[in-house]
Amino acid sequence: MGPGGNSAARVQAFREHFEADGAQAALITDVANMRYLTGFDHVFDPMIAGAVLISPVYQRFYTDTRYIEAAQAAAKDTSWEVRLQRESLYAGVCDDLTAEGVETIAMESSVPHARFVFISDRFSGRVVVSDQWVERLRAVKDAGELDACARAAALTDAAFDHVLGILRPGLREIDVSLALEVFMRTNGSEGLAFDPIVASGPNSSRPHAGVTMREIEVGDILTMDFGARVDGYCADMTRTVIVGAAATDEQRRIYEAVLAANLAGLAAVRTGVRARDVDAAARDLLAGMRLGEYFGHSLGHGVGLFIHEEPRVSSTSEDILRTGSVITIEPGVYLEGRLGVRIEDLVAVEEGGARILSRSPKDLIEIV
Ligand code: ZN
Ligand code: ZN
Repeated sequence: MGPGGNSAARVQAFREHFEADGAQAALITDVANMRYLTGFDHVFDPMIAGAVLISPVYQRFYTDTRYIEAAQAAAKDTSWEVRLQRESLYAGVCDDLTAEGVETIAMESSVPHARFVFISDRFSGRVVVSDQWVERLRAVKDAGELDACARAAALTDAAFDHVLGILRPGLREIDVSLALEVFMRTNGSEGLAFDPIVASGPNSSRPHAGVTMREIEVGDILTMDFGARVDGYCADMTRTVIVGAAATDEQRRIYEAVLAANLAGLAAVRTGVRARDVDAAARDLLAGMRLGEYFGHSLGHGVGLFIHEEPRVSSTSEDILRTGSVITIEPGVYLEGRLGVRIEDLVAVEEGGARILSRSPKDLIEIV
């Protein structure tokens, strides 16, 4: 069964949520949420116009002529009804709801403001905002989803191995970024999980540096943060290497500290622990080495159909880790204008601890 195979169970779990809240139907328009609930493959892209409408008795997917053929093929032999909307998609949905006598619908809290206003005006009944119901279901992956995440992580590992073979001084950041992208896409990645970050030398102190034309110099530190996407599911991994020379004492000291924090974070992961305690395990270790002030971002985040999703792994998170969540552990130390190191792994949460999906080596690699 593919990652979308559990659509019926997801819709049933979702129905219980919105019915408890007094809504007679739920209108879902977020692309990842629609993909999750329908389980449709080869239908959704970031540009898609579509709407999922779920009532206690039906489940519908509305779309336009650009997607109708793919949607009908995906819906074959399922309980999904596909409706073609030639004019305004949301107006059509609202008119159907009004005609059916629906008085209250629920929408996602993440819905864009203009869309919310349009639907509130057009629909004759009441609109209530749901509190991340679909996102909470998405936070716990089933076997098909976990398998897709693992395959995305394996392809990401393979891309790292490939790029290690070509890295040398003189190559530009953009060349490395494109090499990662071409490798992943020609080996089955469905687009990318996100635009790769390739930050060399002083650029590495910016955690989310944009890729530049800068040429990698002898002795540069190089941080690469990237991920493939397989069957809709993202991977996310960061590795930091030294190019053209052996590491300096400072580079090695920072690297070993970040690696220790990464391992401490991984060791704290298991079902039932507070996500903030996992963050603290890594953060406290860096603080003990007087590097705490150089680790500004949160330790990690959930990953799935979207690159950043629930649960949050930060010092303020209220989330408890659950079996089947997929999260990152990504401590970093950034010395402004000089160097940065981040080491990030993708892991699945299990009773006994973290099942590490990122298998690329983490001992400091010096490419000479
Ligand atoms: Zn990342
Ligand atoms: Zn990440």
